[in-house]
Amino acid sequence: MKYGAVNSLKSPRFAGVKTFMRMQQVRTVEDIDFAVVGIPFDTCATYRAGARFGPASVREMSCLAAKPYHPILDVDIFEECSGVDYGDLDSIPGYVKESFDLIQEEMQKLFAGGVIPVAIGGDHSVTLPELRACCSVHGPVALVHFDAHYDTIAEYFGKPYSHGTPFYHAAKECLVDTSCSIQIGIREGLYGAEDKNNSARLGYESLTADTMHRMDLDAVVEKIRQRTKGRKVFLTFDIDFLDPAFAPGTGTPVPGGFSTWEALEIIRGLKELDIVGYDLVEVAPAFDGSGITSIAAAGIIQEFLSQIAWRKKSRKL
Ligand code: MN
Ligand code: MN
Repeated sequence: MKYGAVNSLKSPRFAGVKTFMRMQQVRTVEDIDFAVVGIPFDTCATYRAGARFGPASVREMSCLAAKPYHPILDVDIFEECSGVDYGDLDSIPGYVKESFDLIQEEMQKLFAGGVIPVAIGGDHSVTLPELRACCSVHGPVALVHFDAHYDTIAEYFGKPYSHGTPFYHAAKECLVDTSCSIQIGIREGLYGAEDKNNSARLGYESLTADTMHRMDLDAVVEKIRQRTKGRKVFLTFDIDFLDPAFAPGTGTPVPGGFSTWEALEIIRGLKELDIVGYDLVEVAPAFDGSGITSIAAAGIIQEFLSQIAWRKKSRKL
């Protein structure tokens, strides 16, 4: 059995119930290479909430881009791969630990089944239970983290879990090997100078936006490739990596970011990495007037799926 998408030359792209890229919604780990998974949980947002509606909005906009052939990579997603829209995971609004357990349990089935999950958040706190599940199967992975924010403070308002803390806990719980991990796009203001070195103290390398804007994109790609060399990788993409001009629909936008094109170009440069899991988080459609944030998010996720297919195709050649 192979799972794919509706033929958009028979049924037009604007028709039908919205799943990611018009894939079948099936909750299975049998006979699939990847699963797109919604995690509509945003209880951990520290400013504007609303990313709980991210998965629905990104699915809606993904139908615009429901054309499976990638001309640059020369690959058709569904010719190479079997993939499903796994639907949305359960969570309990307001109950962080309980929700994390539910998310981890379901994600574990995917990792254990040899499936590459591509999750849509939710706020960035959901990456912690994803990494707990990932580590239980793959061991500590190299993290490639696109974000305007470090997300490595130890606690917020005296509590451990928020969308500003997942990569502190991921490091402390040894879910990621920080010596092979890298954060890119960082440009947030901080509560104090002492927060500047939180990531470095945990062992992460961080490329600030200020540095990156003066670099060649190929040099950025090369830095990530060197850092993660030979390791299994988890790629997490906070949509606020993009400048608010390209992604206004998010809880904590920061000026001075990157264009959608630059993000796609960097991601494309990482196609040869052994990426075992992806997520894209923090899309909050209430602040996304024209849908450009969800369009960017859908395009980035489509790039993830295309590179999964590209890797499968290249292994056969
Ligand atoms: Mn983040
Ligand atoms: Mn962020």
